[in-house]
Amino acid sequence: MLAPTESAIRASFVNTTQGESKRLALPHDLDARSWSDLDFLGWRDPAAPQRAYLVTETDGELVGVALRVAPQQTGRVRRSMCSLCLTTHTGDGVSLMTARKAGSGGRQGNSVGVYVCSDLACSLYLRGKKHAGPRMHETLTVAEKIDRTRATLTAFLRKVTE
Ligand SMILES: [Zn+2]
Repeated sequence: MLAPTESAIRASFVNTTQGESKRLALPHDLDARSWSDLDFLGWRDPAAPQRAYLVTETDGELVGVALRVAPQQTGRVRRSMCSLCLTTHTGDGVSLMTARKAGSGGRQGNSVGVYVCSDLACSLYLRGKKHAGPRMHETLTVAEKIDRTRATLTAFLRKVTE
């Protein structure tokens, strides 16, 4: 994706109030990101780790969603898979994140959940720039995996906004 400005990021959120999007904590290293390697920008609020945010481009438009990270069940060694990039993690590497739906659906308390890498670094796992142990063997190329991840993400965003 292309590097967005801070104000474009704040304006992109579809499921927050204006006050929430004005106040939310943006990453401090936006200038240092390797934007061409990112299918989406995802981050956790360091002061409130149960808050996560995801911003991406769909059809040339920036779309952002605020997510709530479900508490991890501790004490169990387990493996789980990110539904966006299909990276398998052990322990707390995958989290259930839920987005309040946009508009009237959200006001009625409806939300949509997705299992996603807890660090929201799917783009880097896909490109082999970050590792989480052995990957499921697939014959797809990296470009095909990126396409699949984008399609899954677009479908998720559509559920949030429909
Ligand atoms: Zn992932």
